[in-house]
Amino acid sequence: MENKIIPYGRQNITEEDLKAVVETLNSDYLTQGPKIEEFEVAFAKYVGSKYAVALANGTAALHLCALALDVKEGTKVITTPITFAASANCIRYCGGEVVFSDIDPDTYLLDINKVRTLLEASPKGTYQGIVPVDFGGRAVNLEEFKALADEYGLWIIEDACHAPGGYFTDSKGAIQNCGNGKNADLAIFSFHPVKHIASGEGGMITTNDEELYKKLLMLRTHGITKNADCFINTKDFAAGAENQTAYPGWYMEMQTLGYNYRLTDFQAALGLSQLNRADEGIDRRRAIALKYAEAFTDKTFIKGQADSIEGHAYHLYIIEAENRVGLYNYLREHKIFAQIHYIPCHLMPYYRELGWKEGDMPHSENYYKYCISLPMYPTLTDEEQDFVIGKINTFYELQS
Ligand SMILES: *Cc1c(COP(=O)(O)O)cnc(C)c1O
Repeated sequence: MENKIIPYGRQNITEEDLKAVVETLNSDYLTQGPKIEEFEVAFAKYVGSKYAVALANGTAALHLCALALDVKEGTKVITTPITFAASANCIRYCGGEVVFSDIDPDTYLLDINKVRTLLEASPKGTYQGIVPVDFGGRAVNLEEFKALADEYGLWIIEDACHAPGGYFTDSKGAIQNCGNGKNADLAIFSFHPVKHIASGEGGMITTNDEELYKKLLMLRTHGITKNADCFINTKDFAAGAENQTAYPGWYMEMQTLGYNYRLTDFQAALGLSQLNRADEGIDRRRAIALKYAEAFTDKTFIKGQADSIEGHAYHLYIIEAENRVGLYNYLREHKIFAQIHYIPCHLMPYYRELGWKEGDMPHSENYYKYCISLPMYPTLTDEEQDFVIGKINTFYELQS
């Protein structure tokens, strides 16, 4: 027991997954084969969106979202500092300005009231978009955000990397799945190994907007289209001959500056195989969360555990703990690799250089002093979780 590393999150690769990958490796396609579309269709169905676009990783997904929404110099976008840096960086890739807004100290999510105050303080048209993050797996109430965004003419990119399978219940009592495209223009997911569904590297954008969907398909592959209905140059030019009635078979056009952000077919096969078990994984995550919550109910050294919140996808199980650095080091001595999510993004040297400073986001900065993410992944055994809980209790007993 003492010798096995317990990380905060890890992938689970089954025999079935291996079979799916090997099958694809033995097929005619390595990249952009039939598995990509199969994965996209299945994923769109899983979250309840019309369209899905598979990509090389979640960061590429964010980048293309920002491009598709025309982020450029002068575009101002609001996001939370308590997220992985990519949520903000995608705006910077396109030359836009990131405006951080503080979290709610209880939910750790972007505080809609703070965003409203920010919007009210400037003339309409100052800001163009919001990137809310379903942080830790807890779904943002996007119905409320959409109402606010509509009022100010803003778009929304939902960063749902932590929350495939998560949801919130809207004002009419309907379940709104993360990434279903109902209350956001675009949503993004990551298939990095610590996330719910692993494909090595990998990402997905989901949307209900056909125009954005078509743009994304082009941006994913160098800005190139092979769809004859969209061609701009003439048939004669395309064929290199006169009086042509059709475009020749080889013809394609690069119409916009795109990237190579494709996922490979064998990664899509892995993602698809993992997606088939996604609900099982969420159930197990919820059971783990419940057990932590029960174990810590009467403990004064811990607060803020997200116990049994409906619709929580539990990518992370975060607590705020006294003597956090002591606890982190003690757990590490016992090969329990808890993690900190996140160092506030606005205080990364890159963003400090852009003018952000300590004191700008008091709730985020205070949260950072105490937060720690405990091991949370479907293959964490009961025995391992007991070991983790036991070590946490021992640490605080030794303190008192
Ligand atoms: C993982 C993650 C990303 C980036 O995804 P990659 O696939 O690692 O590029 C973006 N945002 C959040 C919130 C994430 O957790």
